[in-house]
Amino acid sequence: MVRIAVVGAGIIGLSSAISIQRSFPDVKTITLITEKLSPHTTGDGAAGVWSPYLLGDTPEKDVYRWAKATHDFLHNQWRTEDGGVIGISMLPVIRVVSEEETSDPMWKDIVFGFRKMKLDELAVFKKPSLKTGYSFVSFTCEAAKLLPYFLDIFKRSGGNVVIRRVDNITELQHEFDIVVNCTGVQANRIVPDPLVQPKRGQVMRVLAPTVKWAILEDDDDGNYIIPNQDAVVLGGTHQEGDWNTEVYSEDTVHITKGCFRIIPSLKNAQVFKEWVGLRPGRPAVRLEMEKIGISSQGKIPFTVIHNYGHGGSGLTLFWGCALRTTDLVKNALELHYQPSKYVPRSKL
Ligand SMILES: Cc1cc2nc3c(=O)[nH]c(=O)nc-3n(C[C@H](O)[C@H](O)[C@H](O)COP(=O)(O)OP(=O)(O)OC[C@H]3O[C@@H](n4cnc5c(N)ncnc54)[C@H](O)[C@@H]3O)c2cc1C
Repeated sequence: MVRIAVVGAGIIGLSSAISIQRSFPDVKTITLITEKLSPHTTGDGAAGVWSPYLLGDTPEKDVYRWAKATHDFLHNQWRTEDGGVIGISMLPVIRVVSEEETSDPMWKDIVFGFRKMKLDELAVFKKPSLKTGYSFVSFTCEAAKLLPYFLDIFKRSGGNVVIRRVDNITELQHEFDIVVNCTGVQANRIVPDPLVQPKRGQVMRVLAPTVKWAILEDDDDGNYIIPNQDAVVLGGTHQEGDWNTEVYSEDTVHITKGCFRIIPSLKNAQVFKEWVGLRPGRPAVRLEMEKIGISSQGKIPFTVIHNYGHGGSGLTLFWGCALRTTDLVKNALELHYQPSKYVPRSKL
């Protein structure tokens, strides 16, 4: 019997676990190994707007495919009765930047109602350097609501959850044949992969029910305002290589000053909490199969499928990456285990 484990229960790990579980009903038990569960993963604090961001040199065709599949997933889920409960909302977004962008973004046909804004429309942001703006309709996917739902599906479908800290991915070699590595920024240590570095993000959650649009400034020193269902998320920072998860008071000043400039009434909004998370930055997302040594069952390669390094876009890419991960598991099974039944695409 083939033994499969997924390490990591953030948005990348849990979506991969569910997709694999649905696609291989013959594999009786899939084990999810994780140090922490929601609400203690990176996505839990993120605003979760669908919008490709901080992805380094990840090939555009991959970003497009994964982002489109995730957008389709969010749209389908949003259209179900549970869409709201599981944290998926549709909302208008404005994305602005101080650079003159001559070609439209590659994701423009994925979103609804994409429109390039006129220069005089950008004046409202009171940032004279702004040169380009896009208006479109997108989704927010709140991991704090979606992850418990995913975990419930995983367990009810026979998945096994083990709370455990893994120090090195190879330590699982004697317990499993295929391991899917979804450890986010901790892949730096567990693989180890020094290319993975944190992009530290600090945000503030406030009560501001009159704010209904997401506004994203794409500049290095930019701010953002993203409505979630129970709060509005004000941001933000992206400090490269900074592992500190304490709140910095200078970042609080940057966030409040910038966001109050865009929407002055936020000054009176009640602050719920401030939070810091570490985006898993990498020159490119790592989504590939690696064969390491021999598993304990005999002469079969111990196969690791890496799925990490999604930077500021884990909630924009997760479902497309979960489907690709599932294809890689299928390849590994075909090479070594010959599965008798494979369901090509999850119905979730
Ligand atoms: C401030 C901020 C705002 C963001 N906003 C957005 C946004 O609007 N839209 C968007 O698309 N993305 C956004 N992101 C990015 C997004 O949150 C991440 O890309 C995504 O959450 C990464 O998910 P992950 O599952 O790879 O990592 P994580 O959520 O970090 O999950 C890693 C998992 O691995 C487990 N793990 C780690 N080490 C070990 C170990 N040694 N042993 C066992 N288990 C281990 C952890 O416990 C955890 O369960 C934002 C991020 C931040 C910080």
